[in-house]
Amino acid sequence: MPVIESEEHKAFRAAVAALGRSYGRDYLTSTVGSGHHPKELWAEAAELGYLGVNLPEEYGGGGGGITELSIVLEELGAAGCPLLMLVVSPAICGTVIARFGTEQQKREWLPALADGTRTMAFGITEPDAGSNSHRITTTARRDPDSGDWLLTGRKVFVSGVDNAAATLVVGRTEDARTGNLKPCLFIVPRDTEGFQRRAIDMELNASEKQFELVLDDVRLPADALVGDEDAGLLQLFAGLNPERIMSAAFSIGMGRYALAKAVAYARERTVWKTPIGAHQGIAHPLAQAHIELELSRLMMQKAAHLYDAGDDIGAGEAANMAKYAAAEACVKAVDQAVHTLGGNGLTREFGLASLITAARVSRIAPVSREMILNYVSHQTLGLPKSY
Ligand SMILES: Cc1cc2nc3c(=O)[nH]c(=O)nc-3n(C[C@H](O)[C@H](O)[C@H](O)COP(=O)(O)OP(=O)(O)OC[C@H]3O[C@@H](n4cnc5c(N)ncnc54)[C@H](O)[C@@H]3O)c2cc1C
Repeated sequence: MPVIESEEHKAFRAAVAALGRSYGRDYLTSTVGSGHHPKELWAEAAELGYLGVNLPEEYGGGGGGITELSIVLEELGAAGCPLLMLVVSPAICGTVIARFGTEQQKREWLPALADGTRTMAFGITEPDAGSNSHRITTTARRDPDSGDWLLTGRKVFVSGVDNAAATLVVGRTEDARTGNLKPCLFIVPRDTEGFQRRAIDMELNASEKQFELVLDDVRLPADALVGDEDAGLLQLFAGLNPERIMSAAFSIGMGRYALAKAVAYARERTVWKTPIGAHQGIAHPLAQAHIELELSRLMMQKAAHLYDAGDDIGAGEAANMAKYAAAEACVKAVDQAVHTLGGNGLTREFGLASLITAARVSRIAPVSREMILNYVSHQTLGLPKSY
């Protein structure tokens, strides 16, 4: 893996950054404030081929990988207008369908995910399972007469369900109801009978809402199942590794945005003889934030490279580490940015305070800091488990 980004990727990064700057933070703030989705940015990013850059060319995508998609999300985030659904729709759902879907599923979904006309949400979290996905109880049983699936269960915190044409729901089949998770993935169209959603009142200033879902004997055709009933965790991790890499990109973009604001402010704001940025109490934490964001980007690039090269196992460890490092770097960068602006860090005008909550999301979702530390303790270091 080249440690230095290729000229092609640099040019791609610059092009996405230019698109991001042409919208910027004010666009996102006013769109979210008026209760709308950033559909203009979504459509333009689609038209430029950015949304489906990781999807196969024969299905309307760009033929690239998670490396390129993570550049898109990071640069839009650094410009203040990240598109959260990039983490879910092309990265998780698009990847899983491209790798494991039937020909019909690929033809039905991939061109629409790539051109942005449809999005797909992803639901795995359950109220009684939380971080322990082995405990999920959303269960699919087959109707012996029709061959249809009947899906029953509850999900929580699922992002973007209201706008998504369908949700990719992680369940388990009836004969695998207990024990280690053998997940099955089902495409559930938004208006399917028995598929209910309720928006959760979140303290987040974001374009996507989170939903609690209730599935009550939701009847789905046999071909709603993506891939193989027996493929198990392999299929799920085909989607979860890109999710972690993209979460890292989301965090790095947000951290860079906050840091740039703080640096610009610290260069100008003068309350003694020199701008506050000359005081090491302000300068050093900003420098540290920059270093930590850069380091986490290197890990993210490694994870994306491994994933795109087809090394799912190697990518699993690297994606977890990248997600952890980027979230920590983001939380610290945002905290220091707010602090650098003093009182202005908490005004609406400067727009940084809402990032405090947003940055905390990166520590919790899609996998929490502690679960990554558990993973590294057990898988990498071979330490015993406490749970
Ligand atoms: C904004 C947002 C968007 C989201 N979008 C989606 C989505 O689109 N789809 C989806 O399926 N889910 C989504 N989620 C859910 C997210 O993935 C979960 O919140 C996350 O996995 C944590 O689960 P939990 O909230 O149930 O916390 P819990 O599992 O209850 O954990 C609570 C705390 O306990 C800690 N903990 C738990 N177990 C251990 C342990 N063994 N060792 C040490 N500490 C432990 C955790 O680290 C955490 O700090 C979203 C969440 C948020 C906040």
